[in-house]
Amino acid sequence: MDLAYKDDKQSPDLAVVGGGVIGLAIAWRAAQAGMKVTLFERGELGGEASNVAAGMLAPVAEASLAEQEILALGRQSAALWPEFARQLSASCGLDSSFQECGTLMVATDRDQAVALDREFVLRQSLSLPVQRLRPSQARQLEPGLAPSIHAALNIPGDHTVDPRALTAALSAAAADAGAKLASNTAVAGLLGSADAITGVTLASGEEVSAGAVVVAAGSWSGQLEGIPAQAKIPVRPVKGQILRLRDPAGPGLATRVLRTDEVYVVPRGDGRYVVGATMEELGFDTTVTAGAVYELLRAAAELLPGVWELELQEASAGLRPSTPDNAPVIGPSLVPGLHWATGHHRNGILLTPITADLLLAALQSGELADSASAFTAKRFASTVLA
Ligand SMILES: Cc1cc2nc3c(=O)[nH]c(=O)nc-3n(C[C@H](O)[C@H](O)[C@H](O)COP(=O)(O)OP(=O)(O)OC[C@H]3O[C@@H](n4cnc5c(N)ncnc54)[C@H](O)[C@@H]3O)c2cc1C
Repeated sequence: MDLAYKDDKQSPDLAVVGGGVIGLAIAWRAAQAGMKVTLFERGELGGEASNVAAGMLAPVAEASLAEQEILALGRQSAALWPEFARQLSASCGLDSSFQECGTLMVATDRDQAVALDREFVLRQSLSLPVQRLRPSQARQLEPGLAPSIHAALNIPGDHTVDPRALTAALSAAAADAGAKLASNTAVAGLLGSADAITGVTLASGEEVSAGAVVVAAGSWSGQLEGIPAQAKIPVRPVKGQILRLRDPAGPGLATRVLRTDEVYVVPRGDGRYVVGATMEELGFDTTVTAGAVYELLRAAAELLPGVWELELQEASAGLRPSTPDNAPVIGPSLVPGLHWATGHHRNGILLTPITADLLLAALQSGELADSASAFTAKRFASTVLA
């Protein structure tokens, strides 16, 4: 799959810039729908944010009063996940490791217990599926939890997927459906004018005409040359440091996602765990710091003491593509030929199925579905022009 771009002299219907989960899912769905698709990825497929993400599909655990449109989009996408995962493995024979494991939100001290109670009331008021648990009930479900926990909420519908397995499956499915995946091929900019985008210019200087261009370049989406002023999207990176651990004794320390307001522990179901993550506004810095590793491990072990016994396999950092309102940008811009699929912030893995569906429908109809109007690229036009 690690192909450099070779011009076959036929213009694609769709050029996708960026081979993270978002670009790959769009390439897969568009190729399935019969479009001739070329995806350009400047490094390895899925090598950036999609490579470090924990893979929580957690619209209910992450619900907030201020972000109800994101909550609704997240719940729609969560509902699509089981069938999306099934179709993906049926298409390419690879498993994306979608797991229906559920989630516990846990308070490890009295202050957190008061805050968790407010979270419970919020979710109840929004009619979200959530159940209050006594500490003993939580420990019956997850015996590895610290005996000192103060309270817990059971969120049975928030699940997980392994983003690395997902990237591999999406890459295989997109290629099987006929998409051309050109890795190690950077796009320098967009081709065309303020009236219409007609393709992309590669870093090599080569120009590739395309019926439409989708920018799914993650945190780098705003950096392409030639984006017309009225179509610009202000995308910034939000750094996240994250750990990967392994239990040599195999699975069982935790079977659900466990989270406090400081940390989460995501079980992969096979003895591997992901512990994350920091949220840092540091530009394009991806340094892993001793302080972050220490704080993540300390908070995780306070929740699940068995964490101290695990092997630390990897510490990494990635960049969440984020817009000023931290909501994604999906669909047509004000310039014909240019579409956006970026800004998924903390929820890009969760939002992969719905983003691909919305973008494909927008490519076919020329418009973003009314139900997703909160995520239109056009909402930033006046901000950028001002
Ligand atoms: C620590 C951490 C934990 C996370 N946990 C979760 C989670 O549990 N659940 C969840 O839903 N989300 C999570 N996320 C968020 C999620 O990872 C992102 O929202 C998602 O991966 C974004 O996908 P993407 O394809 O838009 O971006 P990316 O995966 O960053 O992909 C963009 C791609 O574009 C390529 N590119 C950039 N510029 C160019 C160019 N000029 N030419 C060609 N290619 C280019 C890049 O090389 C990159 O591969 C997490 C993120 C982090 C950092």
